[in-house]
Amino acid sequence: MEEVFAQRNMPEKQKSEPNSMAQGIPLKSGIIYGPVNSRRLGRSLGLNLSPVRYKLCSFNCVYCQYGWTDVCTLDTAPYEKDFPSVDDFARALERVLAEHNDQGIDNITFSGNGEPTLHPQFAELVSIAGRLKQKYCSSARLGVLTNSSTATMGSVRSALDSLDFKIMKLDAGDAATFQDINRPCPQIDYQRILESLKAMENIALQTMFIAGEFQNVDEGKVASWVERVGEIKPIKAQIYSLHRPSAASSLREVPAEKLQEIAARVEKETSVSAEAIVAAAPYRPHFSEPRQR
Ligand code: SF4
Repeated sequence: MEEVFAQRNMPEKQKSEPNSMAQGIPLKSGIIYGPVNSRRLGRSLGLNLSPVRYKLCSFNCVYCQYGWTDVCTLDTAPYEKDFPSVDDFARALERVLAEHNDQGIDNITFSGNGEPTLHPQFAELVSIAGRLKQKYCSSARLGVLTNSSTATMGSVRSALDSLDFKIMKLDAGDAATFQDINRPCPQIDYQRILESLKAMENIALQTMFIAGEFQNVDEGKVASWVERVGEIKPIKAQIYSLHRPSAASSLREVPAEKLQEIAARVEKETSVSAEAIVAAAPYRPHFSEPRQR
């Protein structure tokens, strides 16, 4: 089943060039990972709400470090049994937080190897995590890294509003670039995501800039993206480029100087604070180990 999905969701160009496909890093093996030192979040405990046997997401980003999406969907009902249960989530998080007991965790972040808000009980899990954070790690901040695809859904928006931070993905300033880079499932509409982001408060935008066969760094694409940032008015924009092997191996990293130039342009043209996050290690387009399933 996974092979079929992988072929179907792979871009046409890549289907005919199987050797140009990187494998990506292995999927998370469970619900909790870390704490890890994050480029954006400091010492961060990660919460993976996605299935671990295959990659399920509402996007199929060409740069995804976990490789191509096996199941690209917004409708997770048919896959519900593959998501972690509410009880397992609560038990796993309580065990780890009790061990750390307010030490060494700056942030607790819903993220993982898919889109966390796709979990069928996402709102309940947010509420449980908030309660456990207060009990064991009250100084830590609870937040999410999301691809923004569910920002259009009222129930998800309410859950997001209760978090300390929300980092929302926006890699494209126009619908065509969005399709090219993020490859969303068919129900997703770029304009509706944009309108939802504009209506949200206290959000940070996160943008991956890439070059090569698929790109969002030419003058026109950067200009329209900067325009969208000005319309959304996030509290800040974080931009970065490739750091880990990507699904499409034909991508190139955007140099640090270019990222800094884009960040400076955002601040000048929109007054939104922008930060270019530069990778500590050079990008390696190929990953030598096969993905473990
Ligand atoms: S949204 Fe995140 S997990 Fe989903 S395909 Fe894109 S990079 Fe990968």
